[in-house]
Amino acid sequence: MQKIPNKFTIIKNNIIAARILRKLRWNKQIYCPYCGCIEDIRPHSNLKNGLKRYFCDNCMKTFTDLTGTIYEKTKVPLWKWVYGLIILLESTGSLSAAELSRNIEVSYPTALKMLRKIRKTLVNERFEGKLKGICESDEAWISHKKNQQILLGITERDGSVRFFPIIDRSDTSLYFPHRKYVEQGSIVCTDSFSTYNNLNVRYIHHTVNHSIGEFAWRHIYTNTIEGVWSMLKGVIRTIHHGVWKRYLQGYCDLFAFMYSHRSLSISEKLNLLISKSCQPRYCLY
Ligand SMILES: [Zn+2]
Repeated sequence: MQKIPNKFTIIKNNIIAARILRKLRWNKQIYCPYCGCIEDIRPHSNLKNGLKRYFCDNCMKTFTDLTGTIYEKTKVPLWKWVYGLIILLESTGSLSAAELSRNIEVSYPTALKMLRKIRKTLVNERFEGKLKGICESDEAWISHKKNQQILLGITERDGSVRFFPIIDRSDTSLYFPHRKYVEQGSIVCTDSFSTYNNLNVRYIHHTVNHSIGEFAWRHIYTNTIEGVWSMLKGVIRTIHHGVWKRYLQGYCDLFAFMYSHRSLSISEKLNLLISKSCQPRYCLY
């Protein structure tokens, strides 16, 4: 794991920030973002701010430490990005664009774009691997002004959480995300809503009937996912003052990242977040 220096040493120090980004991006293996070649790469030149340029003998193109990442062509100094990521991870749940702009002295629209880029890098986390063990599922309405969206939340007990936007609460809409992202044979606990009954086909399905005052029996309960909804709604209501429907998934992905990795230290989370944000946005090979 890359040891992250104290956040105050990063202030106004682009060289340290560039070193952190370079180490976490390449992870000891430099590859060409255009053709994927790892053998014919040689150093080309040193850029200002501690960044390096490389030359690929295979496709005859040059690239830098930031090519293909969200930091490419950014006008915001690199230390502000790294410092912003640290205060995002130190925050409780999420960070508003207004707070980020105050902390790193950029304009509000710039802070908004930075956070949007960071959230976009987490989109793939939703599709990585399958949930297993004892899972809890529930759906909830998230609304802001005239925007209303139903989300299906599935969480592993003591593990990670994922959110899926669904168009309605029909059998198919609720069953499909389970089929794709929950391992067959797992235990799934839900409330007594009848459209969850299809889950019996692939999973060991248990229900709790809240309407008759039944909330928990041995390992059968949905209190974990109810708690997750409470936290997510709290973050959206108090920090972001409502979220437009088209951006909601990004906010949910960031929340899911923070929740799923809650047991890691800030340093470990920063390693993970920077590695994800340095993954190429495009792959030409
Ligand atoms: Zn190449």
